Amino acid sequence: MFCKKYDVAVCGGGIAGCAAAIASAQRGMRTVLIENCAIPGGLATSGTVLVYLPLCDGEGHQIVFGLSERFLHAANRYGPAEPPAEWGRGGKNNRLQAYFSPASFVLSLDEMLTGHGVDLWFDTKIIGVEMRDVLRPGAVQVANKSGIGKIEAEIFIDATGDADVVHLAGGQCLHARNALVSWFVEHREAGAYSAYSFGKDISTIIVADNILNNSTPEGIDGKTVSDFLLRGRERYRRLLQKDYDGGVETRKTRYPIVLPTMVPMRHSRCIKGRFVLDNGMEQECFPDSIGLAPDWRKCGSVWEIPWRTLLPEKITGVIAAGRCSSAREDAWEVTRVIPNAAMTGEAAGTAAALSLRDGVLPHELDVQTLRKELKEKCGFPLCREDCGISRGSVPCAMEC
Ligand SMILES: Cc1cc2nc3c(=O)[nH]c(=O)nc-3n(C[C@H](O)[C@H](O)[C@H](O)COP(=O)(O)OP(=O)(O)OC[C@H]3O[C@@H](n4cnc5c(N)ncnc54)[C@H](O)[C@@H]3O)c2cc1C
Repeated sequence: MFCKKYDVAVCGGGIAGCAAAIASAQRGMRTVLIENCAIPGGLATSGTVLVYLPLCDGEGHQIVFGLSERFLHAANRYGPAEPPAEWGRGGKNNRLQAYFSPASFVLSLDEMLTGHGVDLWFDTKIIGVEMRDVLRPGAVQVANKSGIGKIEAEIFIDATGDADVVHLAGGQCLHARNALVSWFVEHREAGAYSAYSFGKDISTIIVADNILNNSTPEGIDGKTVSDFLLRGRERYRRLLQKDYDGGVETRKTRYPIVLPTMVPMRHSRCIKGRFVLDNGMEQECFPDSIGLAPDWRKCGSVWEIPWRTLLPEKITGVIAAGRCSSAREDAWEVTRVIPNAAMTGEAAGTAAALSLRDGVLPHELDVQTLRKELKEKCGFPLCREDCGISRGSVPCAMEC
């Protein structure tokens, strides 16, 4: 059994985990990134979810900055797309966003992670948590080609998308059900479907069944996850076969190229945090806001994200980031997407580093110290006024 020790262990190398690991390593912490897949990026790459949703509010204001903005450009460093030059004029079809080739994004993420000195453990699955005391993890148990081992750290960042670390540590979580949606990249000579295309003949197809019913899995049960994956591929097979049978396409002109290699679940399990961001809170100001998140579904909607949504209710020494930060329904729809996952990831990595520097646990960290670092060093706006958004008759009540 092997054992390694770090200052900060980032669990899960999706977009949130990558941002968290870079933010922590940038501040001099010995940082490890533990990832089950062979590549970084999580759903954005292994899940072939290849649209970097907006950093802006659709009304000409940029809302998300820092590593999230760097990732948007890095995603296309090796081609082929870019955000619209005219995004500042606003409008739902002209937002600061871009689709990307998952392979291109992986090459850039590798570069950024290694460039910042993050120690990468791919193909390594977290299978358990060892507690240092009743509430605080001291190590995660992992399995990889070396066998079963453990990685010790002072602080853990749960960026697993499914809150695996908090769950394994006995912390409380919130659950949601999933509709079936799978993204496939295919060759199609007819080019009829070209929402996100790579060259003339290669584009993305989204197979969806948005009906939620009792048989829809939550995404946290090993067997239903397999059924979910099989159902997505079955639907795609049927689409292809229908076209072949109808003579619309042949297997020479339309065929699959890339399938998701990670379970494409939007919601599964997130932490129950010290605060749960919930429906109807989009206009609220929070004294512990650590950043803003635009709503990709509608222009002009911007949410403040409280620090407490990254802190598990009871478990200590762990910070959540990305899709598994504490939110429900409408709020979860906003926090889970790529730009906002990168934002909470950077905040989590920064908070871990500051906590270690100040010799405190994350929940004891002075939130004003964190906010100052995020605003001054990462360029994060903390309230709408910071982005030049006027709240009209409802001015910000906080001292931002
Ligand atoms: C079908 C679908 C379509 C979507 N469309 C879009 C879109 O168009 N644009 C957009 O911006 N967002 C979209 N999203 C949402 C977005 O892709 C994700 O929510 C976002 O990428 C989440 O990032 P994350 O880092 O928080 O989590 P994830 O991407 O889930 O990353 C978690 C990482 O942790 C790893 N991991 C998990 N458990 C373990 C473990 N036990 N041990 C080791 N590693 C582990 C996983 O392998 C993964 O790499 C979509 C999601 C889905 C499912």
